[in-house]
Amino acid sequence: MRLSAQVATLNLRTPFHIAHGVSEQRQNVIVHLDDGLGEAAVVPYYGDTPRGILEYLDRVSPELQGDPLFVADILSSLPVGPLAAIAAIDIALHDLVAKRLGHPLYRLLGLNPARIPDTSLTLAIDAPEVMKARAEESGLPILKIKLGKDDDVARVRAIREGTSARLRLDVNGGWTCGAAMDRLPQLSEFGVELVEQPLPVGDVEGLRRLRQMGLDIPIFVDESVRTSRDIIAHAGLVDGVVIKLMKSGGIREALRAIAVARSLDMRVMISCMIESSLGVTAAAHLAPLGDYIDLDAPLLITNDPFVGVQYDGARLLLPDSPGLGVEPRVLESARKDGE
Ligand code: MG
Repeated sequence: MRLSAQVATLNLRTPFHIAHGVSEQRQNVIVHLDDGLGEAAVVPYYGDTPRGILEYLDRVSPELQGDPLFVADILSSLPVGPLAAIAAIDIALHDLVAKRLGHPLYRLLGLNPARIPDTSLTLAIDAPEVMKARAEESGLPILKIKLGKDDDVARVRAIREGTSARLRLDVNGGWTCGAAMDRLPQLSEFGVELVEQPLPVGDVEGLRRLRQMGLDIPIFVDESVRTSRDIIAHAGLVDGVVIKLMKSGGIREALRAIAVARSLDMRVMISCMIESSLGVTAAAHLAPLGDYIDLDAPLLITNDPFVGVQYDGARLLLPDSPGLGVEPRVLESARKDGE
């Protein structure tokens, strides 16, 4: 198989301010593996760089030999490396195999696209009145509100005044345990569906204390769980986990992580990083397995290089062509990028 990779700069519609910092652009890596397409999201707070991902891909490229149908053999032969780079290879392999077999990937996985729950739309951190206006403008039924500041309760109160949408909160690890113990009971009056990653990665004792409070807001962990082993370490401490292809290292490991979470009675949210329609469409093929879906990244960027999953309001419409069903948005420039 022939692997080529290039960096794609994704411009964000509004500055993406979360507890980890602010981004106006992200640089992801696009992978071509014969006819298969994959994407690695470069997530600054995981310490990844485009260069590190390209170097890994360059290093393993000669190893990617043999029949692509033996996906398990190929993936298990990959050396340890950035999980986003491994995810890009995994996604491209699944795309390639499904194209060769002539079916959309969801069909090979035995999944029914009619079961995909509606997606949330993410609102980045801003002043309460700005977030309220964005919530009103969106007109969408499910909002994921980024938090992680002192005036978070005022933020959620303002948004709730402006919308009757279902609200999910994502703190990205931005609270101390004391702040969470103070704020979560106040936030429950706004009819919040769940809160993601209230505490920093590693604060397992803090999660235990929140659990003992018997809060009525379900708690999910995102940054704290990358592998199946991390999920097991949170058994009994949280209500659910956030699964992302870029954290698990692709589709194969994500399927395993979902199975592990289910076996521990955890709920599952299927989510994405800042990714183009390529990475998000790959995640959307797994979306029938989620209780909650957060696959809105193509709506947050202005220069998506690909066309894939479509949005009918909050509903995801999967392409039904073979593979992922993703195509370059402009054929001419895609051909240039592919050189
Ligand atoms: Mg999150």
